[in-house]
Amino acid sequence: MNLNILYRGELSSCNYDCPYCPFAKHWESQQELDADQRHLDRFCTWVEQSEIASLGIFFTPWGEALVRRWYQEAIVRLSRVPHVNKVAIQTNLSSRLNWLAEADRSKVALWCTFHPGQTTVSSFLRQCAHLDELGVRYSVGCVGLREHIEAIEELRSRLSPAVYVWVNADENLVDYYDNQLVEKFTSIDPHFPTNNTHHSSLGQPCRTGQTVISVDGQGNIRRCHFVKQIIGNIYDPDFLSVLKPRPCPNMTCSCHIGYVHLERLNLDQIYGQGILERIPAEWSNRK
Ligand code: SF4
Ligand code: SF4
Repeated sequence: MNLNILYRGELSSCNYDCPYCPFAKHWESQQELDADQRHLDRFCTWVEQSEIASLGIFFTPWGEALVRRWYQEAIVRLSRVPHVNKVAIQTNLSSRLNWLAEADRSKVALWCTFHPGQTTVSSFLRQCAHLDELGVRYSVGCVGLREHIEAIEELRSRLSPAVYVWVNADENLVDYYDNQLVEKFTSIDPHFPTNNTHHSSLGQPCRTGQTVISVDGQGNIRRCHFVKQIIGNIYDPDFLSVLKPRPCPNMTCSCHIGYVHLERLNLDQIYGQGILERIPAEWSNRK
């Protein structure tokens, strides 16, 4: 059996200051940080001791986790576990990266978001070049706003064609993406139209809750980040019994980390082994 786990602990802070983000320049108390570290350590121990044949781990923190030593150590640690096939994380790519040299880099992948206004294209690309030197796979992307077009185009043109550049539609904006803008972003990211869609999902089969789960710092299992109901806990020795096919209870699904598991979209065919870190198989083969 292969189980993909989206881990989101208590961490909710970031070293960046994006104007629209609740985690911008928010810092936890030492007590909260200690709890996050303790919970992550427990999770890593559970992964190490798990008898599941194959595990994919994807960290989807609130805020930025790679500026925290314990997330760096967790990625190194988990990458060395024989039954872990993938350790991926969403990051703003601002942290130092040397620690990755200690990891089994054949299993590590980064989902890197560029934030115009918080860093420059050149500094971000220096970090990407460091990942290239280390041999770590990654995707790069940005929120698709008109004011970001120039930066996204520069990223695309200066990165190797082997690196997939995604563009996220800002789902809070109504009637923002006219045909011209969709065309522009689709010329950069051929999968932009999929992201720019609220996928109807109510009652439809979705792999979450069966082969993909969301886990919090306490070990609570939810089927995905968008359905709040707790269906079990990984620290319960019998937790596998809760994993079963379930129809989606939400009207729509519009976030990549959710809809990629909606069966009718067949996006596992597009992303293959790169589904967690958002690298389409076609791009993986360009390396
Ligand atoms: S980098 Fe991400 S988490 Fe940090 S402030 Fe910006 S949007 Fe928020
Ligand atoms: S379709 Fe989206 S919201 Fe519905 S269960 Fe799957 S991931 Fe969750």
